[in-house]
Amino acid sequence: MKILVINCGSSSLKYQVFDMDREEVLAKGLAERIGIKDSRLKHEVSSGQKVVIEQDLNDHIEAIQLVLKTLTDSKHGVLKDISEINAVGHRVAHGGPNFSSSVVITEDVKKEIRELFELAPLHNPANLQGIEAMEKLLPGVKQVAVFDTAFHQTMPPCAYLYGIPYEYYEKYKIRKYGFHGTSHKYVAQRAGEILGKPWEQLKIITCHLGNGASISAIKDGKSLENTMGFTPLEGVIMGTRSGNIDPSIVTFIMEKEGMSIEEINNFLNKKCGVLGVSGISSDFRDLEAACAQGNRRAQLAIEMFIYDVKLRIGAYTSILGGLDVLVFTAGLGENGIEVRRDICKDMEFFGIKIDEEKNKVRGKEAIISRDGEPVKVLVIPTNEELMIARDTKELVAR
Ligand code: AMP
Repeated sequence: MKILVINCGSSSLKYQVFDMDREEVLAKGLAERIGIKDSRLKHEVSSGQKVVIEQDLNDHIEAIQLVLKTLTDSKHGVLKDISEINAVGHRVAHGGPNFSSSVVITEDVKKEIRELFELAPLHNPANLQGIEAMEKLLPGVKQVAVFDTAFHQTMPPCAYLYGIPYEYYEKYKIRKYGFHGTSHKYVAQRAGEILGKPWEQLKIITCHLGNGASISAIKDGKSLENTMGFTPLEGVIMGTRSGNIDPSIVTFIMEKEGMSIEEINNFLNKKCGVLGVSGISSDFRDLEAACAQGNRRAQLAIEMFIYDVKLRIGAYTSILGGLDVLVFTAGLGENGIEVRRDICKDMEFFGIKIDEEKNKVRGKEAIISRDGEPVKVLVIPTNEELMIARDTKELVAR
């Protein structure tokens, strides 16, 4: 069975084609600058052969048209005909309170995704555009939606409700949803496989540390907590997102700086985080380089991030009633040797002690805790696309 996985952003589209009989990636790529000048498609086949196609892509339909053309191209293609695609899996950012698992897309599902636009204005509209474009170009092919929020639907009400009048939860669905669910679930399951224990029997904290970062507490195979909230703005300090701040700061800055609602939203999502603190970059590689040159604010930004992650690990260990496994994933979690070392520093009393040699690993699976320590610390590259392909395969086979 061949499955196409699509992840649509507002001006980008990532894709992977899987042969699910062997869980093998046949090709993957990225269409960039959709609807903007200088759009292009970067395509790579499993043999490593790469091609960049520069072409105007005015909307997601044109981008998907080019993806399908490239996938069936005699030179760079991996399919003889698009009819070989048995199903399409879509990453959808926000599933709201009603989706606790992946679903086959119907008119009702699309309606719900649309109704959630105001909760995920940057992501859900793009996700729906991708779904509708695909329906036009591959009519009759089953499509599945895999939600970033679904895995966290097991959080108990005491974790997901905010301290605001209950009717705002009922009226506007204001509650914590949690994000990166597909990634947290994948690495938690994979940790169980690597350790040779059912993941449902482990108390796990998963740290998805990328440009967007979130941490989850997982017990009995269920998410109990995630640092992200009503939107992906809540939680630890991120690349460009503020993470948790006192809510009064928002109105205070709006008043002082004369910012509109749109401006403050843009500010909190794009101008804050380690970028805002350091004044240099949202990328930890740049921050570490600046830090090595003695840049005090770059150092401060890294220290704030590490402090924040440590706080959550401590809090989540108490929620879980102990800890068996700590997992690092995503760009920084997979590659940030110093960041992992500093997060795990002085945590021996929790049973967390990493082996500095084993920790010298980037982008591949590894157990980095010292032998014999109670908590196993793992690095696991995330694979959200594979999870989407697996769910799609399972749902279309029903
Ligand atoms: P992601 O959003 O998962 O793609 O992660 C992106 C972030 O990972 C970047 O902003 C960097 O901060 C971080 N990152 C990626 N590679 C490295 C690396 N080799 N060393 C340190 N940080 C890295």
